[in-house]
Amino acid sequence: MDYQAVLDEVATRVAPEIGRGQVARYIPALASVELGRFGMAIADADGSVYGVGDWEVPFSVQSISKAFSLALVLAQDGETLWRRVGREPSGNPFNSLVQLEYENGIPRNPFINAGALVVTDRLQSLTGDASTTMLDFLRAESGNPELAFDAAVAASETEHGDRNAALAHFMASYGNLDNPVPTLLEHYFWQCSIEMSCRDLALAAGFLARHGVSSDGSRLLTRSEAKRINAVMLTCGTYDAAGDFAYRVGLPGKSGVGGGIVAVVPGRCALCVWSPGLDARGNSVAGVSALDHFTTLTGWSVF
Ligand code: GLN
Repeated sequence: MDYQAVLDEVATRVAPEIGRGQVARYIPALASVELGRFGMAIADADGSVYGVGDWEVPFSVQSISKAFSLALVLAQDGETLWRRVGREPSGNPFNSLVQLEYENGIPRNPFINAGALVVTDRLQSLTGDASTTMLDFLRAESGNPELAFDAAVAASETEHGDRNAALAHFMASYGNLDNPVPTLLEHYFWQCSIEMSCRDLALAAGFLARHGVSSDGSRLLTRSEAKRINAVMLTCGTYDAAGDFAYRVGLPGKSGVGGGIVAVVPGRCALCVWSPGLDARGNSVAGVSALDHFTTLTGWSVF
C-alpha cells in the first residue's frame, strides 16, 4: 500500500468538508483553535509513519485519552474493571447524566465521560498519579519526549467543569469511585489537556494495531485485551454516532472534542486525523469524512 498516495488522495477528496462544523465552545480555551485546520497521519504496525496537511501540529487530545486510560487499566487490572463500567453503546451524548440513575451509578461504557471518570479513578488508585502515568506512556509510545499537558485547557475545563463534577459526585453517591472527586477531576482534566499531533497519536495507538504489543516490542496487552479495546472503540468510541461511524468508516475509532479521531486497522496500521470543526455529536466533520474516504480507497474496513 502506498500510504502517502492514499493520504494525498484523501486530503484532496476531503477538502470541501474542511471548515465545516463548530469548534467546542463549552471549553473556552478550545474555542480559539482555527477551524480550517486539517491533518492526517498513518503509522504502519512496523513503526513507519506518513502524513499530510497539519499532521505535525499539536492539538488537544480530549476524549482520545480515554482509549489510552482504558488500555493502561486493563493492562494492570484485567477484567475486574467491568464490574464498575459497562461496554454497551449509550445512545446518549458523551456528557449525559440521564442513564446513570437508572443504572445505579454504573456508566454504560468507558468512553462516555462518566465511564472515563471511573477508568481514571481506577488508574489513580493503581498508580497514585493517573495523568502523569498517561503522559509518560504517551511519550514512550509516540517517541516524542516533548509531549506535555496544556495548563490553560485544563484550567478552562476545571472552571467550566460542573457537568463532569456532577457525573463524578453522582457516581460517588453510588460508591463507584475510590478517590475524592476533586482529585479525580484534576487528573481527568489533565489527561484530556495533553497536546499531541496526528503523528504522535498515530504512533501512540500503534499497540492497538499490533494486537497489544508496545512500540519497544514488549507486550502491553494480551491479544484478547487489544481486540476488546478495539471492539469497544468500534461500538462506543464516537458516542451516539458510533453506529453511523461503523456504517461509514468501519474501523475502531476514538474521537475527542479537540477535533481529533484515532482509528485502528487491526494488524496493519493506526491512523489519526484532525480537523477542529465538530458535528452536533462532538465528532470532527472532516475527520469522519477523511476516514470514510480512507476505508473506501483502501478497502481496509474491518467488515
Ligand atoms: N474533556 C472533555 C469533557 O470532559 C472531553 C469530551 C470529549 O472529548 N468528548 O467534556
